[in-house]
Amino acid sequence: MNLKLVIVLSAVSLSSAVQINRLNQSVVPLNYNIHLTFNSNFFETNVFEGRATIHINVSSPINKIEIHATDLNLTSCEIIHEANITCNFNHSTKILQINLSTNLTQNEHDLSINYTGNVNSHDLQGLYKSSYKSGNQTEYFVVTHLHPTHARRLFPCFDEPDLKATFDLTITYPKGYNVLSNTSPKKTSTVSNGTLDQIEFATTPKMSTYLLAFIISKLTCTNSLSGGISYNVCSRPGTESQRQYALLIAPKAVQHMEKITGIAYNSSNIVKLDLVAVPDLGVNAMENWGLVTFRETALLWDTYQPSNYRQRVASTVVHEIAHMWFGNLVTMKWWSDAFLNEGFARYFQYFATAEIEKNWELDKQFVVEQVHSALMADSENASVPLSSEVTTLEAIADKFNVITYNKGASVFRMVESIIGTTSFTLGLRDYLKENMFGSTIPNDLWNSLERHANLSYSLSQRVMNWTTQAGFPLLEVANNKTSIIITQKRFGGNYTTKWYVPVTYATSRSTNSLKWLTPDKDLVLNISLSNSTDWIIINSLQKGFYRVYYDDDLWKRIEVALGKNINAIETLNRAQIVDDLFSLAVAGKISFITLLNRLSFLKSETEYYPWYSAFRGFESILHKINDQEIKEKFTNHLLDLMITLHESVPMLTVDNKNQIYALKQSLALEWACNLGHSECLRNVKQMFEAYRISGIKVRPNLRFTTYCTTLKREADEKLDVWKFLRSKLSENNDASETEIILKALGCSKNENGLDKYFVALIFLRRYENFSDILLKQLV
Ligand SMILES: [Zn+2]
Repeated sequence: MNLKLVIVLSAVSLSSAVQINRLNQSVVPLNYNIHLTFNSNFFETNVFEGRATIHINVSSPINKIEIHATDLNLTSCEIIHEANITCNFNHSTKILQINLSTNLTQNEHDLSINYTGNVNSHDLQGLYKSSYKSGNQTEYFVVTHLHPTHARRLFPCFDEPDLKATFDLTITYPKGYNVLSNTSPKKTSTVSNGTLDQIEFATTPKMSTYLLAFIISKLTCTNSLSGGISYNVCSRPGTESQRQYALLIAPKAVQHMEKITGIAYNSSNIVKLDLVAVPDLGVNAMENWGLVTFRETALLWDTYQPSNYRQRVASTVVHEIAHMWFGNLVTMKWWSDAFLNEGFARYFQYFATAEIEKNWELDKQFVVEQVHSALMADSENASVPLSSEVTTLEAIADKFNVITYNKGASVFRMVESIIGTTSFTLGLRDYLKENMFGSTIPNDLWNSLERHANLSYSLSQRVMNWTTQAGFPLLEVANNKTSIIITQKRFGGNYTTKWYVPVTYATSRSTNSLKWLTPDKDLVLNISLSNSTDWIIINSLQKGFYRVYYDDDLWKRIEVALGKNINAIETLNRAQIVDDLFSLAVAGKISFITLLNRLSFLKSETEYYPWYSAFRGFESILHKINDQEIKEKFTNHLLDLMITLHESVPMLTVDNKNQIYALKQSLALEWACNLGHSECLRNVKQMFEAYRISGIKVRPNLRFTTYCTTLKREADEKLDVWKFLRSKLSENNDASETEIILKALGCSKNENGLDKYFVALIFLRRYENFSDILLKQLV
């Protein structure tokens, strides 16, 4: 029977943190057959029609089915060949309840639902509509972003990550557009007396609902074929030249991940990979299987754009491609363990890209960008464990944070360092093979790794305390004349939490293998620093996720070593020292005078990594100083400290082939100009004038510093620079240049201009992440 009804599955405000009721797993989906129709006027009406036929398996007799559906207008529902049913929406649980007059037998059935839905135009979630300018024309497009819990706004579904199924999608749409989805088209036709086109896509692999995706647009694509896979990089017409770099990186990333995992990309039966630059996307990128969506700045790059944007493209493309295995093929059972998806994607974003762009030192960049920021976030009292229960939609959305990504990746790197790269890789292969098209909890991973690790202890026991406890240990290291004593406590407060801590160290004489500091007792290293120039550094290359506090004697020895030959201590450990010192000062463990004294070795430091950590620390201090006189003294101290660094990256020496030099030069000059270094200011002024008067473009890597410094130094009453840069915003077709100018405009000291700027930014919602940067500039 086909019961006709209209129920509005209304959008009760989601802000009232409703507890999630998990679905009853005695009924699970096997396949969704979804047909969506977008009529000729849908860009005006914002309405689409849908029919979802869900092939379900009932494992024990039931008299009701519960399914997610949000903001959908239900017009009919039936279970094919079954007796009467009624469909009701439960407003408190936001679940569509299908009641049966008789029990549904233990068998497979087809549940069919007709409905209409709205294309979202107020946020960038679910199925949403946006637009871009093409000449004088406004072009509209619709695109999905169903992660993590928005599939229910597109079709009624079992919207939980472990309830995987295959999908057959058909889309009927107006002529003149093209449609991409997860899989290749199977059949295209013309319907409705020739007014609409229809496209039927091949069946997807068994996957989670949040991975379904499509886009209806007038974007165009550049194609290449490699290893039997068809790669498409798609974007606005006019940006074709910016597609080549992603087109080069993507096949290399797929090949590398295939090599690491031992599983071919197309073994999932998806034989193509579309990478689409969406002109309006709420996140950096989204790993929809076979149809990855990106912000334009995360996919498009050409040689006239800065080096850091190139790195952003490579690492985002690799991050999303790594998800094809870690996240799509094998998915965490529930969002509480989102780090199983995101930690691995972040890990490979660095360590797989390092195999493609070999001279970028991404293994080193990982430490200052990921480990240090994760430690900072995890120092907060409110920090939660990697594995922590999420029971509301808001908590699920909040789970995608620095802890999940950066700490997740840092813990995986630490585990790799404990068991060795070979065992780690073999363990990952098992993990993926055993759980293909399925879902996992952390123990599935630890067990797979343990099988290859050949250890005398339980790996899961030692690793679990890093994923089930918040925070991280501070190791206090003391010289006891004949030995070194290491104790632990949680960083940043009075906690009783303890960990199994893998301790590595280097001394003036040797480097040593791993020792364990256990929760129940201190670690004693039988090392005697007999000579006054002997030293010890704990946590080689900062592979362990913890901080270190040395007693005064040990610190003096480090200081002497750095003074004698700075390179005696590894660069990454120098960066670690810097980052730890700032954190210890903020936590009140050392005074700010001690901090500045201990950082005086930076005067002879010219490497990127210690300075990266130092600038981050100095930035946080500078913003806290309100007294102008103290600020000035501090600024002069910094300028003095960075003399050698500044001399190592002369503004006129360009070396774009050397990525680390390019990054270091941008960073050092940004700080030099920011602090008012006279030579830096003079050079920047010349470059800006050459741009304004003669149209000679500023070198890509110095654009932000040049624009920002010029705006900052401009007298209040003159708005020429501001107006000039604003005019450049509308002239260019390049998302990275737009982003650089928007960021730079925030450097202005002109309050009137800034007011207007803020208003404009509010409407430019895709740049909402700039608000943090802007606030910093204003302080
Ligand atoms: Zn990701």
